[in-house]
Amino acid sequence: MQPLAAALLDAAERVRPCATCGNLDTIDPCAICSDPRRDGRQLCVVEDVADLWALERTASFKGKYHVLGGTLSALDGIGPDDLNIPALIARARDNPGAEVILATSATVDGQTTAHYIADRLHEHDIKVSGIAHGVPVGGELDFLDDGTISAALRDRRPV
Ligand SMILES: [Zn+2]
Repeated sequence: MQPLAAALLDAAERVRPCATCGNLDTIDPCAICSDPRRDGRQLCVVEDVADLWALERTASFKGKYHVLGGTLSALDGIGPDDLNIPALIARARDNPGAEVILATSATVDGQTTAHYIADRLHEHDIKVSGIAHGVPVGGELDFLDDGTISAALRDRRPV
């Protein structure tokens, strides 16, 4: 047990947030920010580090990330300055040709946060997109809720 406890303590002491994106790593900038093979013009905005790693597991995104540290919430008194939003605006503004991809949750707070960020980025003429919502891979329409089916119809694409 003691080596395990020592390893956990060591990890807890060495892991810290990346000053650029908010990811957690033992180096700063983190391994993703300092990877030259990744496209720094694509910034994927996520709520927390768990969401970042969910996207990383798919190995389908080759850009970089920006971790907000939560969502806007009037009820909990969380405003834009409580999140990593001002840094995102500055990062995108200083990055010519940047595209910001909003990947916040499909919850009321997640979508409110996405709308707020999109409005702020449009003020600076920065390209903004949002990940699609709809039918999950392997999903059957019969088992989906009305909101998901409505979103899937709204976000339909040419085939
Ligand atoms: Zn980073």
